[in-house]
Amino acid sequence: MDRVTKATRSKIMAAVHTRDTGAERTVRSLVHRLGFRYSLTRDDLPGKPDLVFVNRKKIIFVHGCFWHGHACRYGRLPKSRREYWEPKIAVNKARDRRQANALRKAGWSVMVVWQCQLKKKGALEGRIEGFLNGWTAHRNRLVRRCRRHVAGF
Ligand SMILES: [Zn+2]
Repeated sequence: MDRVTKATRSKIMAAVHTRDTGAERTVRSLVHRLGFRYSLTRDDLPGKPDLVFVNRKKIIFVHGCFWHGHACRYGRLPKSRREYWEPKIAVNKARDRRQANALRKAGWSVMVVWQCQLKKKGALEGRIEGFLNGWTAHRNRLVRRCRRHVAGF
């Protein structure tokens, strides 16, 4: 029984790893399809973000639910060897928080896309578009208000 569990577990682990990179690829092509252009990973930024939008000062991380400890069913810890997994995932989560804070302090806006959110592509697209257009929409509002002001309306 235990042997089966272990074998299954390692199979799941391997799948999680490949799915993680698969998730990145999916988000990249989705972002590309929406018409946004991102830079290649910049090693100088904390956490080596998956997608960097330099002009917009925005960053998207793609997180695998298991390794980054998402509060969803994919982020659930295995029942066996909890004492091994719990601190491991806790360290990952703390590092994610630290890196996001460092980026925000440096003026970046940070968004996390979770692997499980790829199942609802429509909702995810909306979120990504909203996140990436946020600043532009805000700026356009300001420009409009400014023009109105100058024109004396
Ligand atoms: Zn999740």
